[in-house]
Amino acid sequence: MATPSLKIDHARYIITVDAQRRIIRDGAILIEHGRISRVDRAAALADARADRVIDGRDLVVTPGFFNGHMHISYAHPVRGIFPDDVGSPLKQVFTLQGAMTEEEEYHASLLALVELVKNGTVCLLDPGSTKYPDACLQAYDDSGMRVIMGDCVTDRDAPWPLPRYATAEAAKRTAAFIDKWNGRLGGRLRAWAMPFSPETCSAELLQLCKRAVDERGTGLTLHHGSGPQARREYQGRGAKSPTEYLEGLGVLGPTTVLAHALGIDDAEIDSMARTGTAVAMCPVTAAKGARGVGANGRMPELLARGVRVALGCDSPNNSNHLDLVRSMNMAAIQYKDARQDMAQIPAETALELGTRVGAAALGLGDELGAVEAGRRADLVCFDTQRPEWQALWNPVSNLVYNADGRSVHTVVIDGRVVVDGYRQTFVDERKLYGAVQEIGERLQARTGIKAPPSRWPMV
Ligand SMILES: [Zn+2]
Repeated sequence: MATPSLKIDHARYIITVDAQRRIIRDGAILIEHGRISRVDRAAALADARADRVIDGRDLVVTPGFFNGHMHISYAHPVRGIFPDDVGSPLKQVFTLQGAMTEEEEYHASLLALVELVKNGTVCLLDPGSTKYPDACLQAYDDSGMRVIMGDCVTDRDAPWPLPRYATAEAAKRTAAFIDKWNGRLGGRLRAWAMPFSPETCSAELLQLCKRAVDERGTGLTLHHGSGPQARREYQGRGAKSPTEYLEGLGVLGPTTVLAHALGIDDAEIDSMARTGTAVAMCPVTAAKGARGVGANGRMPELLARGVRVALGCDSPNNSNHLDLVRSMNMAAIQYKDARQDMAQIPAETALELGTRVGAAALGLGDELGAVEAGRRADLVCFDTQRPEWQALWNPVSNLVYNADGRSVHTVVIDGRVVVDGYRQTFVDERKLYGAVQEIGERLQARTGIKAPPSRWPMV
């Protein structure tokens, strides 16, 4: 239900992230039938009438944010149960995920959507976590969010309880899922192939998944990690690295998104650039998970080679927040520190990753990612009447270094106002918080996975 027409008038700044990267002072945006029809100085749009006009005098407007790797589903009801020194909690993670009921997953997803949209995210890619898409469809619809989803498949042993099938069945499920879901919700929903990783899927399954998406014109994402140890293991199988293994199988290409992509070497970056493969990196997960961005993070080199990089928040038990502004901040600051070089990942680059470049990485770059006439109308308006926005000379710097998602005032997706003056209207948040807390209690009781005692006495 897009408002027939909407005007944001006299915006203090519009950070367009358009082809010229214009920042318009005292700007106006006209939205008609879900698309941006005009963007210019407010004076130039003085004649433009709309069914609704939002006073933008205190607002900084940006394109909507893209979360390129975000496990919706199990985590919100048990967010924070893993202590800092737990090591990898993946066994517990997949046990919890596998134990979710349909109704529990719906509520957990709804809460994730509330958090995402209130922090300015307009599109998320869930790498196949959702077990009950039929139930969650209502939540996606109500929230207005764009969702890229898929059926997580494996056909090999994994150290964790992942969904495992015979190769042919996994391929069939992948194709059937795409056929059922792709293009629903007026095109806001995209369905991709989501084999979990090259280690948990056979070469044959990876190739069948790639063929399924090529035939259907969609995309494929999988978890990807490298490093000296991984390269040695792949060399035992006749490839130089995980990346070159995937390239040799024909799995890389412009519609493939590799998630995390840590530990890659120069030859692997060449492979990604050569094949036009995209990457989704999760800077906060990498930092919190002690993944050694100094040694293992190659974002600057990927960008220098023209590889499209999206940012992700991973799971709410990894990052643990779903705030793309904080992810942009981390991307901008962690490479400066890791390389001891303040010129790394400037604020403008970080904002591109969250918007224009992130949209392109997810195959949506023609329609989304910038405030530009002709594109779908996905926008975030930040409230500058807050201490963290003072003083305001360069809105990109303020956004990436001072602000976070708490100043998201209004969010528009496909021309529909989904957050309006800090409020969403698709769910009663207080009731939802209570329901999700109870789901967390039930999940822990059912799985035996419990929050360990607090390090500090809880009296
Ligand atoms: Zn993941």
